[in-house]
Amino acid sequence: MSLTQRDQKHIWHPLTQHKLQKEIIGIKKAKGVYLTDEEGNEYIDAISSWYTSVYGHCNDFILEKVKAQMDQLDQIVFSGFTHKPAVELSEALISILPSEQEKIFFNDNGSTATEVGIKMALQYHFNQGNDRKVMLAFEEGFHGDTFGAMSVSGLSVYNGAFEEHFIKVKRIPVPNGNNTKEILQQLKKIHEETPLAGFIYEPLVQGAAAMKMHDGEGLNEILRFCKSRNIVLVADEVMTGFGKTGKNFASDYLTIQPDVICMSKALTAGLLPMGATSCSLEIYNAFYDDELAKGLFHGHTYTANPLACAAALAGVKLLKSKEIQQSIQLINNANTEFERTLNLHPKVAETRNLGVIFAIDLNIEMERYGSTRDNIFKSFLKKGIYLRPLGKTIYIVPPYIISKEELSKIYKSITEVLDAL
Ligand SMILES: *Cc1c(COP(=O)(O)O)cnc(C)c1O
Repeated sequence: MSLTQRDQKHIWHPLTQHKLQKEIIGIKKAKGVYLTDEEGNEYIDAISSWYTSVYGHCNDFILEKVKAQMDQLDQIVFSGFTHKPAVELSEALISILPSEQEKIFFNDNGSTATEVGIKMALQYHFNQGNDRKVMLAFEEGFHGDTFGAMSVSGLSVYNGAFEEHFIKVKRIPVPNGNNTKEILQQLKKIHEETPLAGFIYEPLVQGAAAMKMHDGEGLNEILRFCKSRNIVLVADEVMTGFGKTGKNFASDYLTIQPDVICMSKALTAGLLPMGATSCSLEIYNAFYDDELAKGLFHGHTYTANPLACAAALAGVKLLKSKEIQQSIQLINNANTEFERTLNLHPKVAETRNLGVIFAIDLNIEMERYGSTRDNIFKSFLKKGIYLRPLGKTIYIVPPYIISKEELSKIYKSITEVLDAL
């Protein structure tokens, strides 16, 4: 029996309606930009496996560092103990994070990274006796699948069933270049009626909303208002972090810097699961007290797992290298050039492009959209490309180590799929 057949017996997959999706592909190998399925078909991983494997799968440098760590120290309790990979990683992260960031709190994944960010914002005010219990978020944001993270995400199939159990949240639209004034008015009113504790936002690019990009100047204005009212700024850089937007962090494009930054996905270069939440000294100091209960009593058993830290440390080293920085630029140049060829395509409604992220909104009828989406997905697989269309959007976030030829193959496949629509 194939993996695909055996899988059906006991496995429940994430984000999957099993009655509708029967075909799950068995993957037996991943190396560089290539995934190989159990029948031997190869696919270029055009989305870096959900934006994690940005230095390529089974990257030799990262493997070497993690293997060496495995011989030394596998796992210890991180309350009361520390270790070299965590210390070195904290130093490496601080060296690339925006300058206000001073402390790193480790956790397990993107959802827990944002969960901790939300808790930092709420307890920052709680510890000071401020009556602020409400979070602010963007309407179409996505911050993860745990309860706090779900609450601040836009409503969708992901979280609709749990709405009654959400933490308190107010939502505003993203700035589009024309609506900043209205958003600020709305925001002022919200804050007067229900004092806000924190604002969680995906800076500049909303990944799960199909790589929607918003206006940086408008975002700066919103952030400036929040800062002036002591609303804690929590930047969710789980998707945007570690070079994807062309800078180390999307916040680097903005003049107003966050108090808290949530990281995961490419943090560990796609090798092991881990999240991290960084914060400024001002946030940290609100928890630093003689009173035990003012501490942040959040912890996961595998917090700062030494192997994950070793992978992350190797990842940051690669990110800082000239080669990787150059590749990010080259991918952006290539995306920009490809974008031009699509300008007049009748099936293209809009394109978006930042760093290595490139998205195309399709100009097609929405009816029978589910099957159209599935057909698009399958035609890419047939052409040897793995990407996951989201609604009417085709997007790529290629690994930084992709070659020019492999990129061209992705572009050629996209053009062929568009032509066939
Ligand atoms: C993926 C993602 C998350 C959730 O991360 P998980 O590791 O899947 O829990 C949170 N925020 C953003 C912006 C993401 O892209």
